Amino acid sequence: MASINENFLKLQRNYLFSDIAQRVDDFRKAHPQASLIRLGIGDVTRPLPAAVIEALHRATDEMGRAETFKGYGPEHGYEFLRQAIVENDFAPRGIHLETDEIFINDGAKSDTGNFGDILGPDNTICVTDPIYPVYVDSNVMGGRAGNFAGGAWDRVTYCPCTAENNFVPALPDHKTDLIYLCYPNNPTGTTLTRAELKKWVDYALANGSIILYDAAYEAYITRPEIPHSIYEIPGAERCAVEFHSYSKTAGFTGLRCGFTVVPHALTVLSAQGEPVELNTLWNRRQCTKFNGTAYIVQRAAEATYTPEGKEQVRATIQYYMENARIMRETLAEVGLQAYGGVDAPYIWFRTPEGTDSWTFFGQLLSQVNIVSTPGVGFGPAGEGYIRLTAFGSRGDCETAMERLRAWLK
Ligand SMILES: *Cc1c(COP(=O)(O)O)cnc(C)c1O
Repeated sequence: MASINENFLKLQRNYLFSDIAQRVDDFRKAHPQASLIRLGIGDVTRPLPAAVIEALHRATDEMGRAETFKGYGPEHGYEFLRQAIVENDFAPRGIHLETDEIFINDGAKSDTGNFGDILGPDNTICVTDPIYPVYVDSNVMGGRAGNFAGGAWDRVTYCPCTAENNFVPALPDHKTDLIYLCYPNNPTGTTLTRAELKKWVDYALANGSIILYDAAYEAYITRPEIPHSIYEIPGAERCAVEFHSYSKTAGFTGLRCGFTVVPHALTVLSAQGEPVELNTLWNRRQCTKFNGTAYIVQRAAEATYTPEGKEQVRATIQYYMENARIMRETLAEVGLQAYGGVDAPYIWFRTPEGTDSWTFFGQLLSQVNIVSTPGVGFGPAGEGYIRLTAFGSRGDCETAMERLRAWLK
């Protein structure tokens, strides 16, 4: 008789975005005239850069001619894109990578979720809290999270990030095997300095742990003391995998492309005590289960590294970061302590007078018709916080802030 992966039954229903949609829907029905401003969802709104559109057109034309048509491509991506990544994202930071250490994918969500395929079921997990939910849920599916009790998984170590520790998580006081770090952070918009990140690399090297480093927002970093890649830290190539995405960087949320770095130096001992390269296993996994990212999409990603592409990407990021600045300054003006928004497109703020996240979410919706995200939806340490995104239009952002000012002043 067939059976199912019982771990899927353990998954907690993620109420967050469906709950938000439900509450917004109810509010709309009751107040059809209200003009809602959506600063909740983490999706971009600016169109793709012109250089990317031109590359898509060119590549599409190639697909229409027998001489330049492309069928199945290499599962790990075309050499032209891997080369562009090595030369543009890493070499200028003094990080030397071989092109076969880069795996092109259809986005960071896929690989952060799938990477557990090549890791043993007995590994323990460590996450910062609040957190992007994919890391924990994919480990629940893989049977590594244990049981859910009292709002947490019993085989997952949660490292709280709150205003009290300035959003710098403390190292676990015991060994953990797989550590998920996301910097710049979604949802808090905060970062780690090189010195802070080095503590995690040293911990991982000392304990034989693997760090799964999500750098999806790396392009938003403005301060020089903030590392763009974990490989800026010596020794990280022996303990870390890094995930990148063109989604938030270049507007690829609908086009789909990203990449994962798996250095050859990263080895784990097999049960027989033999060192095994994760690069080899990941390549095997991808060749079996993934057939590569579309050729035209990889050409589009390549175009973000041309001089025009870089300039256009920078302009879009500046547009969002100007929204972030406007939001941060308005929140400060009305007496709400805001975090993030300097090296990331997210603003994270504490609700006034200890109001819980969902209550303040409701007040923002009913009083000023702004849709936000309740912080507690990203984990227990997010209680009492709200996330706003800078991904909206300038007009929406300014109107939303005028409403906040009028309401809270
Ligand atoms: C948006 C986001 C990603 C990117 O996902 P894609 O699948 O590349 O669109 C990855 N990690 C975090 C934390 C994100 O917020």
